[in-house]
Amino acid sequence: MSEQELRRKIVSIGKKAFDYKLLSGTWGNISARFGKDKMLITPSGFEKVALKPSDIVLMDLQGNILRGKWKPSSEVPVHSLIYKAREDVNAVIHTHSHYAIALAVTGQEIPVLTSEFAAAVGHKVPVTRYAMSGTQEFAKEVVRTLGEGKAVLLRNHGVIAVGDSLEDAFQTALLVEDEARTFILASSLGYAKPLDVNEVKRLRDAYLKSYGQEKRRLSLRF
Ligand SMILES: [Zn+2]
Repeated sequence: MSEQELRRKIVSIGKKAFDYKLLSGTWGNISARFGKDKMLITPSGFEKVALKPSDIVLMDLQGNILRGKWKPSSEVPVHSLIYKAREDVNAVIHTHSHYAIALAVTGQEIPVLTSEFAAAVGHKVPVTRYAMSGTQEFAKEVVRTLGEGKAVLLRNHGVIAVGDSLEDAFQTALLVEDEARTFILASSLGYAKPLDVNEVKRLRDAYLKSYGQEKRRLSLRF
């Protein structure tokens, strides 16, 4: 994918994240890997809904700006550390979605409750220890807690979702918010029973096997 296409896609994902209420105001940030060791990332202080492709900043993973007229997101350290640690990750989305943030504030991980979540994410969503956002300490804590997973809750802060494409990371961010809402609503009615771990594995394996078809199904329309 060309740099220009990737810039356009980040802008589209930003608008979608607004539509789905995963982002509000100037909060949150979105990035995509470009080549092996560069990334395109949203600028600091912009509403993601109002971005233009030319606003996106091209950087190397050492934190140097290669092309861009604006200051990049203050969360550059965590985005670049994830790309360095995870060769399989090509996109990172950081949201402040409402139900997930309620769990991040109370320090409760999201269990796997629904078959959709088991298939498309495949693991419970752990909570990081608190660290000040934008710091190396925060970046290291996110990478440590994320491990090989697709999403983490950031203690007293929000969500980070990753994927092999922007669509994949966006879908995970959306599913995390849906699963958090389900968890909170179901808990208010009684015990929210998690899916059995073997069943989660079975659903996840079946999903990964059909991922070629799934990928087409997941293609977002821009
Ligand atoms: Zn944030």
